[in-house]
Amino acid sequence: MYFSNSIISWYNKNARELPWRNTVNPYKIWLSEIILQQTRVSQGLPYYLKFIENFPTINHLASASENQVMKLWQGLGYYSRARNMHFTAKYIVQYYNSQFPENYNEILKLKGIGEYTAAAISSFCFDLPHAVVDGNVIRILSRYFGIEIPYDTSEGKKIFKNLAERELNVDLSAIHNQSIMEFGALQCVPKSPNCSVCTLSENCMAFNSNLIDLLPLKSKKISVKKRYFNYLIIENEDSTFLQKRNSGIWKSLYEFPLIEGDFTEEKLLKSDEFDEILQNSDFTIGFVSKQVTHQLTHQTIFAKFWHIKVSSFQNKKYKEVNWDCFIDFPIPRLIDKYLKNIEKVTN
Ligand code: SF4
Repeated sequence: MYFSNSIISWYNKNARELPWRNTVNPYKIWLSEIILQQTRVSQGLPYYLKFIENFPTINHLASASENQVMKLWQGLGYYSRARNMHFTAKYIVQYYNSQFPENYNEILKLKGIGEYTAAAISSFCFDLPHAVVDGNVIRILSRYFGIEIPYDTSEGKKIFKNLAERELNVDLSAIHNQSIMEFGALQCVPKSPNCSVCTLSENCMAFNSNLIDLLPLKSKKISVKKRYFNYLIIENEDSTFLQKRNSGIWKSLYEFPLIEGDFTEEKLLKSDEFDEILQNSDFTIGFVSKQVTHQLTHQTIFAKFWHIKVSSFQNKKYKEVNWDCFIDFPIPRLIDKYLKNIEKVTN
């Protein structure tokens, strides 16, 4: 229990005050865990507070519209998390009488909840002995125990899961899990951890063998795909036109009519896609933005925004939206950032 006792006593001295730390309400724990997946606390905290303010209970979240949920989530990325959370809130209200299930396997069956979140909810809220395993935990375990097996292989996954379960203090599973997560976020950080002040340094294999920069090991390199987006900001007096994405990472968000591909102006105007969108409308090209780069985990998007004036636009595929109401629509961060920059330039 040396490992667990050490990180718990470190946690008791170093833990940050965070709103989801003082509750065993599974709705609040769930919300915080979903928001914090792939997101730093400083970025996720305002979103958590906004969600709790707007949807204080699971019933409030379940009865919200998809647009309201996506709008509050806007800018946080990984939008499937918001869609799944909304689905699951409705599911719990309908099938569990608004009460979060209190059993690990039942929690794991809920849409959008994986092993990590199920372990966090079941240990924090119901004191069940399930160890959390995420990037932070893997980093600490691989360094402390000197494990040189890539964590993204099936063998690696099994080894880290078993080790996390073995080291779990089953009588204190909530605080053990909180401690290891906080230890990974503050002490055993990915780059240049300050090992000289670390409570585990005496027995840490990576520290004692100079392997900190090497561990944890990963087998695969992520390949990043390049994509070229041309957004047509079609303007008819005070209105523009939007479509709702029904697939991909930005599913359920709204965007301007999109043509994908690396086009010159001449080629874009002659393309079939352009004809299909404009459908013989009279138009003039106003302004074309410089290329804007937007980095996602597996994709780099190079976007251009084409401002197009029309006197009438009949394509029913797109929803006419008055600029005054534009703010009500959830949109990708790429578009939001572009419009805010344009506002700064034009104001
Ligand atoms: S000594 Fe360094 S590498 Fe080892 S657990 Fe502590 S912070 Fe991490």
